[in-house]
Amino acid sequence: MEVKLEGKHAVVTGAGKGIGRATALALVRCGAKVTAVTRTQADLDSLVQECAAITPVCVDLCDWTATRAALQDVGPVDLLVNNAGCAALESVLEVTEEQFDRSFNVNVKALLLVSQIVAGGMKTRGSGGAIVNVSSQASQRALRDHAVYCATKAAVDMLTKVMALELGPHQIRVNAVNPTVVNEMGRRGWSRPDKAVAMTTRIPLGRFAEVEDVVHTILFLLSDLSSMINGVTLPVDGGFLAC
Ligand code: NAP
Repeated sequence: MEVKLEGKHAVVTGAGKGIGRATALALVRCGAKVTAVTRTQADLDSLVQECAAITPVCVDLCDWTATRAALQDVGPVDLLVNNAGCAALESVLEVTEEQFDRSFNVNVKALLLVSQIVAGGMKTRGSGGAIVNVSSQASQRALRDHAVYCATKAAVDMLTKVMALELGPHQIRVNAVNPTVVNEMGRRGWSRPDKAVAMTTRIPLGRFAEVEDVVHTILFLLSDLSSMINGVTLPVDGGFLAC
């Protein structure tokens, strides 16, 4: 099945690197008009160089005033991917206030704000839409040294469900994807061979995810192929959460 998104305008946060960047590029290939939001101008420059059709927006999503200002002129939005995220890897006893605040600001507060802006417009226009929040398997399993990250992603899962409940009557579907460790970007936390092996042995398929595994799932949840799916937290984890 082919995902066709001609005539749709998609906004992707955290589109400078990793999953967000790959999602923005894939959305263009599906025919969507794409606005890429991130905070490092150099990433946006290289993204636009790679794909001139993408509209770049440079803003730190932790700054609510700047984010409102940056997104007010992007025009009507049909699809939103709340992907921007960060991971502070510390144990419960060592995590700092700064790490806690930064993690919740990026992973949870920014997601809520961008959703308010975008879904508010969808509701006013009565046009419906689809939102995908990029969560993690860490929302549903305790992972050593991931205390704050796990807590932020658990918050993302529950926000997804409440958004689905409240926005569903406006034909705005809200779902989450919950990837396992993704190759390349996941290396930061899982580069030590012993840690990597300990994780892959808990994944029935025996491997980490590829970026495309996550991107394809996001495209499916944004498209009409999933038109009756609302409020799910969909693992892209090779079965990790099933065990
Ligand atoms: P990444 O490579 O670090 O990319 C994250 C993107 O978000 C970057 O472009 C980053 O910009 C942007 N961003 C971060 N804070 C921002 C802010 N305050 N304002 C605007 N943009 C901001 O991350 P990734 O691995 O692709 O992860 C993407 C999402 O998937 C995250 O939500 C993550 O939690 C989730 N996830 C990742 C994995 C994995 O193994 N990689 C697994 C499960 C879930 P800067 O670089 O300029 O900060």
